[in-house]
Amino acid sequence: MTKTFKYNISEIFYSIQGEGTRVGRPCVFVRFQGCELRCDWCDTPYALEIKQKEQLMNLEEITQEVEKYECKFVMLTGGEPLYHKGVKDLINWFCDNNFEVVIETNGHQSIAEIDKRANFVVDIKCPGSKMEKFNNYENFKHLKKNDEVKFVILNREDFDFAINIIRKYELNNIVDNILFSPVFAVLEPVTLAEWILKEKINVRLQLQIHKFIWHPGKRGV
Ligand code: SF4
Repeated sequence: MTKTFKYNISEIFYSIQGEGTRVGRPCVFVRFQGCELRCDWCDTPYALEIKQKEQLMNLEEITQEVEKYECKFVMLTGGEPLYHKGVKDLINWFCDNNFEVVIETNGHQSIAEIDKRANFVVDIKCPGSKMEKFNNYENFKHLKKNDEVKFVILNREDFDFAINIIRKYELNNIVDNILFSPVFAVLEPVTLAEWILKEKINVRLQLQIHKFIWHPGKRGV
């Protein structure tokens, strides 16, 4: 890829990491525009469609914008970052320049060829998303212990689906952290907490804390 290659970027912003094991830490978010999936409960609908003209940035423009925040923790999210041709070069650049890099990916794109200095949060789509047929379970072969697998849970069917996947693939032996996140404002956290406790499974209940700190619909946080 050349320096002139342009990436579709929805937004770049500095905020508090709201999810996963790095929750609460200041982080620069690079949100890619465009996703091949259409989860029923998607909370970033503005980042789904590619709009070529307004959102093109080259590697230099993106990295300069990120460096402005003087924070060495960057999350690539979306939309779907791995959907984008050329994203490997950007990931390599951040790793080469001593950034802590986390890639949040929808679980459909392969992570096999991505720089393993980066960490992954790989979604596994449950039936409530209507996207579960797109799950790429081959990705489990490429995960490191400190990567994370995330299930967004809409209802009991989703919970049971997630438990089955964890047991079938022995996910607790693959990663240290399996995240269960209730669909915001639909599944009550207390309900999910009780299901987890009753099932006695080793997962981490997570709430999207940015939606509690700021208004749940606020962008750029
Ligand atoms: S994969 Fe992520 S960005 Fe794409 S539709 Fe689903 S929730 Fe939205």
